[in-house]
Amino acid sequence: MATPQRSPRLQQRGAGRGPLGSRPSASVWYGLGLLVLLGAAQLYFAVPAGRSIPYSEFKVLVRDGQLTEISISDQTIHGTLKNAEKDKAQFTTTRVEDPKLAEELDAKGVKYTGESANRWLPDLLGWILPLLFFVAIWGFFFRRMSGAEGGVMSFARSKGKVYADDEVKVKFSDVAGVDEAENELKEIVEFLKTPSKYTNLGGKIPKGVLLVGPPGTGKTLLARAVAGEAHVPFFSLSGSEFVEMFVGVGAARIRDLFQQAEAKAPCIVFIDELDALGKARTQSPFGSHEEREQTLNQLLAEMDGFDSRKGVIIMAATNRPEVLDAALLRPGRFDRQVLVDKPDIKGREDILRIHVKNVKIAPDADLKVVAARTAGFAGADLANLVNEAALLAARNDKPAVGMIEFESAMDRLIAGLEKKRVMSVKERKIVAYHECGHAIVATTLPGLDPVHKISIVQRGFGALGYTMQLPIEDRYLMTRGELLAQLAVLLGGRTAEEIALGEISTGASNDLQRATDIARAMVTEYGMSDALGAINYDGNKRPRFLDIQMGGERGVHGEDTAKQIDAEIKRILTDAHNTAREILMSKRDKLETVTARLLEVEVMEGDELRRLLT
Ligand code: ADP
Ligand code: ZN
Ligand code: MG
Repeated sequence: MATPQRSPRLQQRGAGRGPLGSRPSASVWYGLGLLVLLGAAQLYFAVPAGRSIPYSEFKVLVRDGQLTEISISDQTIHGTLKNAEKDKAQFTTTRVEDPKLAEELDAKGVKYTGESANRWLPDLLGWILPLLFFVAIWGFFFRRMSGAEGGVMSFARSKGKVYADDEVKVKFSDVAGVDEAENELKEIVEFLKTPSKYTNLGGKIPKGVLLVGPPGTGKTLLARAVAGEAHVPFFSLSGSEFVEMFVGVGAARIRDLFQQAEAKAPCIVFIDELDALGKARTQSPFGSHEEREQTLNQLLAEMDGFDSRKGVIIMAATNRPEVLDAALLRPGRFDRQVLVDKPDIKGREDILRIHVKNVKIAPDADLKVVAARTAGFAGADLANLVNEAALLAARNDKPAVGMIEFESAMDRLIAGLEKKRVMSVKERKIVAYHECGHAIVATTLPGLDPVHKISIVQRGFGALGYTMQLPIEDRYLMTRGELLAQLAVLLGGRTAEEIALGEISTGASNDLQRATDIARAMVTEYGMSDALGAINYDGNKRPRFLDIQMGGERGVHGEDTAKQIDAEIKRILTDAHNTAREILMSKRDKLETVTARLLEVEVMEGDELRRLLT
C-alpha cells in the first residue's frame, strides 16, 4: 500500500554468452551413437547360431553319441548334431562346470575344440570407450573455457570488437535529457575530428572520460554517439570480460586492446561497467583477487604509458563510482568525470519523442502527461515504456498507440504486473480504507502534489493498492512544511484503518518505514528539528553521484544525542499521526463515501476524488 510509487524496475542486461547454456558439441553425440552401435553389434555377434538347449539335454546327446563335433568356449558350448537336417543341426548350451566332460567326449569319439573367448569387444566396451568418452568431454569443456572464438591459443587475444568508421550510427540526436553530459562530450568529438587544432597550441586533451550515472540513463549510448559523431573506430568492451579465471589473461587482453587501439588511432576505447575490474584493491585476509588486480594494474600502466596526442580516448562507464579504485580517478587517467543523471520532466518528454519515432501514435497520446507521470524513470525505462505501450496496442488490434495504452504501460511498469489473485472481501475493505486515508490527507493538506489516481487493483510484489500523486514539477528541494505534510500522508493510510475499522493491519509497514526514514533524515541530515538544531548528525557520507545509501558507520555522536534523536523522530511522527487523525476525523463521512465508491470502481481518478471531497 504505497503512496507515490516511483521506482520502476530497472532492467538488468544479462551478460552476452553463458558458458554452459549452449548445446553439447556434436562429438558427444557421435560418441553416444557409436556406443549404441557397438552394443548392438555385440548382441548380434555374441548370440551364436542354432537353438539353445539345456545342459542336461546336451549330456544326454553326448551319451547317446548324437554329436559330431563341438567347440567349447568360456561360457558356451556350440555343437553339431549327427542325424539332423542341415538347418536344425546347430545348437548351443550354456557351459556348466563339468570336469568329466572331456573323458565322456573321448569315449564317444566326439571331435572337440576349445575356443578362446572373443575378448576385443568386451574390452573395448569395458574401458576404451569410457576413456574416449571422458577425453571427449574434457576437450569439450576445455574448448568452452578458452573462449568462444577459438582454441587454447587465443587466450590472450582481446575480445574487443572493432566498429569501423561508419558502423556506429548513433548520433547525439539519438540521446536526450542529458544535455550537460552531451555538451561535455562535444569537446571530445571536436578533438577526435581535428586533433592538430588542439595539440598545436600545446593543449592537453583528457585521456580518460568516465561516464557516471544510474543504470539505463544512456551512458553506453552516449559513448557510442561520440564515436558516431567523430567518425572514429569504437572499441567496446565490458569490464567483466577482462576478469577470467586464468591469472594473467585479463592483463594480456588489456595490453592487446591498447595495441590494437594505437594502430587505429584516432579512436575510442570504451570500457563498459568499469567497476567489474576497477574495484578498489583491498588487503583481504581471504586472499586477494589476484587476477583482477593484475588486470587493473595493467590498465593503469597502459593509461600512463601512452600519449593522448596519438588520439586514443579512453571512455568508461560505471554506475558505482564509489567502489572504484582511487588510482583510476587520478589526474592523467579518468580525470574527467561526466555525470549522466536521470532526466527531468522536459528530458523525459524528449526521450519519449525519440523513442516514439518508429511507433504510430494516436493524436490523443499526450507525451507531456506521460513525462509528468514518469518521474524517476531513466531513459531505458522510457524506451521500455514506449515498447510496452506499442505491444499493448497491437494486442488490442489498435491502429495506433493511444493514451490508454500508455496509461496501462505506466501502471504496469510503476507498480508491477497486475495480479490475478483476488483479495478477500475483508482485505479489499482494509486496502480501500487505507488508500482513501492516504488520498484524503494528500488532498486536504496544502502544498502537496495532487492525487492522480487511487487504486485497489492488486499489482506486483507486495503492493496491494496505491495512491499516486502527480507532481506538477520536478522538485529539487522540499521545505519542512512539505515534508511534514508528506509524513501525514504516509501515516494517513494506517490512521484511516484505525478510525474506520478500529484495528490496524500489516499493510502499513512500508509506509511506516518510509515515514521513519524521512523523519530521521529531517532530524539528522536536514537540521529541521528545533530541539537538535542545524547540525548534521549523520556521519554517513553519501556516494557523490547516486542516492544509494551506503552502509557503514552512523554518525559520531554520543548516546545522549542518540536518545534525543530518537525522541525527536518519535515526536515528529506522532505529530504527523495526529494531523492525519484530525483530518480524517473531521471528514469521517467523506472517508466512508470515498471508500464505498473506491470499492465499487477499484480505480478512481483524482478529479473524481476531489469532486467527492467537496
Ligand atoms: P546505461 O549504459 O547508462 O546503463 P544504455 O546506454 O545502455 O544505459 O541505455 C539503454 C537504452 O535505453 C538505450 O539503448 C536507449 O534506447 C535508451 N536510453 C537510455 N538513455 C537514453 C537517453 N538519454 N536518450 C535516449 N534513449 C536513451
Ligand atoms: Zn499505504
Ligand atoms: Mg551501459
